Amino acid sequence: MLRVSDLTKTYKTGDKALKGVNFTIPAGQVVGLIGPSGSGKSTLIRCINRLVEPSSGKVYLGDLDVTAMPRGRLRTARRRIGMIFQEYALVERLTVMENVLSGRLGYVPFWRSFLRRYPPAYVSNAFALLDRVGLIDHADKRADALSGGQRQRVGIARALEQDPELLLIDEPTASLDPRTSRQIMRLILEICRERQLPAIINIHDVLLAQAFVERIIGLRAGEIVFDGPPDALDTDA
Ligand code: ADP
Ligand code: ADP
Repeated sequence: MLRVSDLTKTYKTGDKALKGVNFTIPAGQVVGLIGPSGSGKSTLIRCINRLVEPSSGKVYLGDLDVTAMPRGRLRTARRRIGMIFQEYALVERLTVMENVLSGRLGYVPFWRSFLRRYPPAYVSNAFALLDRVGLIDHADKRADALSGGQRQRVGIARALEQDPELLLIDEPTASLDPRTSRQIMRLILEICRERQLPAIINIHDVLLAQAFVERIIGLRAGEIVFDGPPDALDTDA
């Protein structure tokens, strides 16, 4: 479960990017985060994993107060948060399998890649994840040999590899065609349900969000202006 309480962020420039944001996401629920450019979506995502320091307020991940963690221990908190990115952020010259393993091992050093020495339990777990995202036959391919949809599947498997308690997903389909976008959204939704993972998807495409997620949070100028089921959203507003 994720709980965000009275979160604010004022940048040094004076921009009030978040003005007291409150919401809770229970296990297994996927929330679509929408709002015009500049409304605070990226700031919100970044405050949750503390890539940006909130000005005030709290972020709880289960019982863990993420906002109270000393900077030196943030790695521990970030391990509990899986990130999925628009541009996938794969290591091009490494294989699909190595990219997935980098979820828990962090950066895969060259000697490991060369000697192929990985903890066997991690490898079998990574195979299971590749099977789940439909890439079991591509484990040994280099990342740069894959299509966009396949790359995002690797991104999903890598995020799951660290066994996260929350997924933060930034524009996962922005570089994909409509059909592949729907497949990726479906996969994310299924996986979150199976694993009872809460997730936030920062998503430009409101229609795509409406078609898949059960709850939408709408931001405008740093404030939540909508929080509810997609069919209650007035898309003209
Ligand atoms: P997006 O909506 O895709 O996140 P933005 O244009 O909002 O893209 O932001 C792109 C990058 O520029 C982000 O890293 C953001 O933090 C940074 N940024 C946005 N606005 C400002 C600003 N006024 N001053 C400094 N950096 C900014
Ligand atoms: P969105 O992701 O919805 O486009 P952002 O969170 O990127 O919105 O931006 C929210 C507001 O904060 C905007 O006014 C933006 O200009 C400002 N902002 C974002 N990043 C920075 C930054 N690094 N420094 C200063 N202002 C920023």
